[in-house]
Amino acid sequence: MSQDKPLVPPPLKNDCFALPAGTLWTPVSDALETLKGRLHTCVEQEVVPIKISLGRILAADVSAVRAHPPQPNSAVDGYGLRHADLLTGAQTLPLVEGRSAAGAPFEGIVPPNHAVRILTGATIPDGIDTVILQEDVTTDGHSIAFHGPLKRGANTRQSGEDVHADETILRKGRKLTPADLGLMAATGIGSVEVYKPLRVAVVSTGDELAEAGADVRADQIYDANRPMLLAMVAQFGFEPIDMGRAPDDREALRGYLDEAAIRADVILTSGGASSGDEDHMSALLNETQAMSTWRLALKPGRPLALGVWEGKPVFGLPGNPVAALVCTLIFAKPAMSVLAGQGWRLPEPLKVPASFSKNKKAGRREYLRAKLVEGRVVVFKSEGSGRISGLSWAEGLVELPDEALDVQEGSLVDYYPFSAFGL
Ligand code: AMP
Ligand code: MG
Repeated sequence: MSQDKPLVPPPLKNDCFALPAGTLWTPVSDALETLKGRLHTCVEQEVVPIKISLGRILAADVSAVRAHPPQPNSAVDGYGLRHADLLTGAQTLPLVEGRSAAGAPFEGIVPPNHAVRILTGATIPDGIDTVILQEDVTTDGHSIAFHGPLKRGANTRQSGEDVHADETILRKGRKLTPADLGLMAATGIGSVEVYKPLRVAVVSTGDELAEAGADVRADQIYDANRPMLLAMVAQFGFEPIDMGRAPDDREALRGYLDEAAIRADVILTSGGASSGDEDHMSALLNETQAMSTWRLALKPGRPLALGVWEGKPVFGLPGNPVAALVCTLIFAKPAMSVLAGQGWRLPEPLKVPASFSKNKKAGRREYLRAKLVEGRVVVFKSEGSGRISGLSWAEGLVELPDEALDVQEGSLVDYYPFSAFGL
């Protein structure tokens, strides 16, 4: 700095988020569009038995091998009849010998003007097209008496009425649910082509950080981000890789990134993402030329350093735990979903009446820690971005748009339960 010029303090600003003159704020939607356009699936495929496929992402469409149900069967316990034999009013029909039960079908043809005992799930015997509920008949074991008429096909399930053979039942990119496993099993599928889980390395950076539970100096703080981010990654259905804590030392951090790039498909770091003296993450990513440091028009979570290290995308998240969580949900999650084979998907908000009021200025998007109480959304008592207790208190986020907004009690606001992000 030149000695002859006196130091002049910057003008006072009452908004602590104001940026130095000339710095552009990137709107959240622009940042998301950029991510969406630059990423593609990066994981390999494998075939696994359906019983271990829960939460995996389909690498190809799945078609039914067999119709469901495969054959016409009875929906109830009762008696099988031929609709053409039925009268209006009271009627009696003799029963044939034998019965049709699930797994033990009636062999042969039921002759005209006869009925057959039939149980739920049993194949409808030849000669029969309709079933009467057992509660609607009286029987002596040889005949049944009942009142007509009945609808043709009553109490039966038709072959393929649920799913046809060869019908596409699940699409590529779907994350398999318990019900999907049931559907695949029912339609004759024993194994399925899925993507290998996305491997996500998590690194914390900062000389002040100590491991949870360790003895600490008074000036140290516990590393809260790493356990939180590793757990989020696991809940997203990806494979967390714990890379530990890196010091605020550029060469050491370089070593962590090298190792993470070998072991993982994507790297999440927290801390050091801004442009201060000790912000080595953004400095290192800058070296790679494949870097965007976004000053996001987002509260909480201004600095987000995005780069590619040895071919692996790196999300340099803010160190502040609240900002780290919000940036992970808003940016890293949709990006990681693309890398993992799920495609680009953003959560759908619920429109819920607010149980708070807030006058929001224009210029940046805001996320408030929130939860639903009796159908209204309440927000955490403080917007302080260091208040990690509010993250634990919250069950979701309220999103306030980039524009100015005057939220009154009862105004509809966009609420995302954490489950909408896959948590
Ligand atoms: P930084 O982005 O490195 O400037 O960090 C911003 C703030 O977040 C500082 O107060 C850090 O001490 C804090 N911080 C950074 N990393 C962590 C972490 N892993 N766990 C808890 N707090 C952190
Ligand atoms: Mg730091």
